Amino acid sequence: MKKILIVEDNDINLKLYNHVIKKIDAEQYVARDGKQALKLAREHVPDVIILDIQIPEINGMEVAKTLRKDSKFDNVKILAVTAYSMRGDKEKILNSGCDYYLSKPISTRELPKIVEDLLNGRPPSIKN
Ligand code: MN
Repeated sequence: MKKILIVEDNDINLKLYNHVIKKIDAEQYVARDGKQALKLAREHVPDVIILDIQIPEINGMEVAKTLRKDSKFDNVKILAVTAYSMRGDKEKILNSGCDYYLSKPISTRELPKIVEDLLNGRPPSIKN
């Protein structure tokens, strides 16, 4: 079974992700901060990580950088999710090792499609 790790500190966003992703046939893990994200990623080696950038303990970009140093995560697709909309942020996030970038608010119609694409090794169509 495929595995998804959801990293999100905000309860409302987390509920939303759980709701739209629960229909996808995959094991799902949730981390509420960067430390927990690294721990769960190492334990389960998910296929896809939905990674909020603004999270406690270790921010999402640092989480991505850390994972990318370990070849065991080479095939993990990281989808960054962030409210950042400053110029250059997208580049910074992608340079940290995230594969794709999605800005908040997240479309509940788009997210499951994007996650399905990532799980199936297809490049998702993301409009930012
Ligand atoms: Mn957050």
